[in-house]
Amino acid sequence: MRVGYPRALLYYHCFPFWKGFLEHFGHQVCVSGQTTKKLLESGIEKTVGEACLPVKIFFGHALALKDSVDAVFLPRLVSLEQKTYICPKFMGLPSMIRASLPELPPLIEVEVDARKDGLRGSNGLWRAACDAAVQLGDGSARQTKAAFHAGQSMQKEYEQMLLAGLDPNQAIASLDCRDSWDNRERDRQRSSGRRNGGKAEGRGTGESGLSSNMPKPNILLLGHPYNVHDGGFNLGLKTRLSGMHFRVTTMESVPARNALYEADKLSKAIFWSLGRRMVGTAMHLFAAEQVAGVMHLAAFGCGPDSMIGEVVEREARRLSIPFISLVLDEHTGEAGFLTRVEAFGEMLTRRGRL
Ligand code: SF4
Repeated sequence: MRVGYPRALLYYHCFPFWKGFLEHFGHQVCVSGQTTKKLLESGIEKTVGEACLPVKIFFGHALALKDSVDAVFLPRLVSLEQKTYICPKFMGLPSMIRASLPELPPLIEVEVDARKDGLRGSNGLWRAACDAAVQLGDGSARQTKAAFHAGQSMQKEYEQMLLAGLDPNQAIASLDCRDSWDNRERDRQRSSGRRNGGKAEGRGTGESGLSSNMPKPNILLLGHPYNVHDGGFNLGLKTRLSGMHFRVTTMESVPARNALYEADKLSKAIFWSLGRRMVGTAMHLFAAEQVAGVMHLAAFGCGPDSMIGEVVEREARRLSIPFISLVLDEHTGEAGFLTRVEAFGEMLTRRGRL
């Protein structure tokens, strides 16, 4: 069966798990293309005005799969880890899609709720995987377990690539040619070992995800993965920053356990799963004194984004680290947005930090 997976929202967070799981059963996983103006407009047309831009983009991606797949995979995300929640829009998403896009092929709708899952450490995925297998008419309990492990293994491999410095888009592309990734990683480690006179260097970025002798000023680009890694949403921000000779660090390059350790030091716990990780990432990198400035990328009208931005901004100001908040919606003008980005970059360069 050809199963469609929209390249939007938590695609950048957990797609590799579902890819590994579905492919183990022999399904062909088809991902929608990059976010374009046309795709965005098709999503806007079908969503209610008050939905945030990432949700509108999701609608566009779901529609783009309409004629090319037999089913669309659509997890209903409630909680990604114990004692935390995710934005309510994720819970309502399958219902919104079902009501607004009746032209889509059948939906494979599974609930991911870490609070209800009986399997320790699966963060809701085991229960969701069993449910998905039933809806797809796939295999026995033993086969489901094997597919689940295939998904976990692919997700782990993906996360290792992110820690090694790969962009999520590159890492996902590499999953289709695992051998070449393994070879490249081996070659990279060999050549960096040679450069260091044979000394072991780990992943080359250390626990903080940063090299200690990196010459370029380092910008922490903070935001939900679907805002940071979707160039169609953020007007190609990452590429533009690299073109301005900045090194761009995102939350994926810091190990989750380090980020969560820092986040747990806050006097009040953050109960948004990704928000907790974002704040912890910023605090971890601030402590390592390797951030020249912070760009917080948010969607207009997003409650979690405004709260997380405020927490990180306060901490950055306390440490005299420049901070800028960039809020986007479908009406954001490219010229004004880029002027702010360039002005911030210019200011960082002049400060000559790092
Ligand atoms: S967290 Fe914010 S940007 Fe993400 S879906 Fe919810 S409202 Fe939209």
